[in-house]
Amino acid sequence: MASSAGLKPPKPIVLGENMAAQWKTCVVNAMVLVKRNEKIRICIDPSQMTNSASAELKQHTEMDLEMQSLKSVVMQGWPETRNELIPELRKYWNFRDEMAVYDGLIFKSNQVLIPQPLRKAMLAKIHSGHAGIQSCIRRAKQVVFWIGMGSDIQEMVEACTICQRHQRSNTKQSIVLKDIPGLPFERVASDLFHFKGKEYLLLVDSYSGYFDMKQLPETTSKQVIKQLKEWFSIHGIPQVLETDNGPQYASAEFRHFRDKWGFEHKTSSPHFPRANGLAERYVQVAKSMLKKCSDDQSDIQLALLHLRNTPRSSSIPSPNERLMGRLVRSNMPMTLEALRPRVSVNVQQLLEREREIQKEYADRGTVEPPKFAEQERILIQDQASRRWAPGAIVKQFDGNRSYLVTDGERTLRRNTHHLRKLRGSDQMEDSLQETRHPVENDPDDTRSETQTEATVNQGQHSSMDMPRESAAATPRVRRSGRTVKPNRCSEFLYY
Ligand SMILES: [Zn+2]
Repeated sequence: MASSAGLKPPKPIVLGENMAAQWKTCVVNAMVLVKRNEKIRICIDPSQMTNSASAELKQHTEMDLEMQSLKSVVMQGWPETRNELIPELRKYWNFRDEMAVYDGLIFKSNQVLIPQPLRKAMLAKIHSGHAGIQSCIRRAKQVVFWIGMGSDIQEMVEACTICQRHQRSNTKQSIVLKDIPGLPFERVASDLFHFKGKEYLLLVDSYSGYFDMKQLPETTSKQVIKQLKEWFSIHGIPQVLETDNGPQYASAEFRHFRDKWGFEHKTSSPHFPRANGLAERYVQVAKSMLKKCSDDQSDIQLALLHLRNTPRSSSIPSPNERLMGRLVRSNMPMTLEALRPRVSVNVQQLLEREREIQKEYADRGTVEPPKFAEQERILIQDQASRRWAPGAIVKQFDGNRSYLVTDGERTLRRNTHHLRKLRGSDQMEDSLQETRHPVENDPDDTRSETQTEATVNQGQHSSMDMPRESAAATPRVRRSGRTVKPNRCSEFLYY
């Protein structure tokens, strides 16, 4: 086994200069090494690092003492034991079998090591489009590496003022269950939305979670058809297009388009508008991205690119990989190997499995509301704008869901529904992405604000004062008798 004692890891492959010609040989060598020693060896072709930044990377790797010591250990072979390493390098011990050096750069598998001085700039790229923590971590892990990268990312996202300002509202979003399609672009959904006085059309593919949006000059049937044609000509004509009952989709012109191009058009019924839940969910993602990008004047198209390159979870690949079978080149350093086309298999099963896990969570009930300490710095949601602004806890207002808080000017009484931990990690898709994360209080719970405060006024104990353990263990049941499903951000819930 790979862990057998005394087995010295093979020396790293030192790749030749003439990469184009030697590429195949390198792959063969790598495979031989893997077989012989049962160690993972990587073959990298970093001479073709996709980014002009690789010169800068090389320069910094050369100037950095730790990088230089690491490089010589990787090239000369690792010692038998961890303690034989100089202290600064011991943290790399567990990764020794994955490390290689080429052309002045150090790699851990396909991830290039980023020296300290470049990490800040890299973090900014990783956070492009203001993705959440888990999303950023997955995005980064595809291409770059340093010790402590995960916690650096977490710190950065948690400290991002734009992300804090735009944390999603605690609005309930029910999980709409539908069959998961077996192919990319088999079932797509479309919807229109406004943002800052402009009209946008959105299209999302159910299988891959790939979405696109386009600003329309006007929201006529003609413009919608024109844009859909453009997307369909790139990705193919879907079997099914789902939309709401908007007039753009109900026109004779649209029916003509449907018949001529040959797809099935399913509309949500007026009695069940949530049927277009997929598109609606992505409209929220799109709006959130537009807001954040407009706040920091960053490029929405670049944000979309990064988002589509970000894996859905540790087992489910990115939208680009699911739709196109490849990652696309971004402005982060990437090896050619990372860009090599690959077929994503079992996507349907993985999505089904993921959905089961979500459902399991949903059936398990919710977690209790967060607890705040006096003077704790928090975020308060403005009732009108629904934006989050910093504030502090004055004191608990009896019960466990109501607090007196200050926004710096006024003292307010607020339900925990409208309060957040300042360093909460529940931005964007994160609360959904990692299903093991507990979900937060259910904002749809009819008991939340009004009843808590009524109870407070009467000086009685409410049913929420039950011991924490039992409150957490018992799935809550609404007064209507329905089990309360946990609130989760389903923005990134791909079917
Ligand atoms: Zn941010």
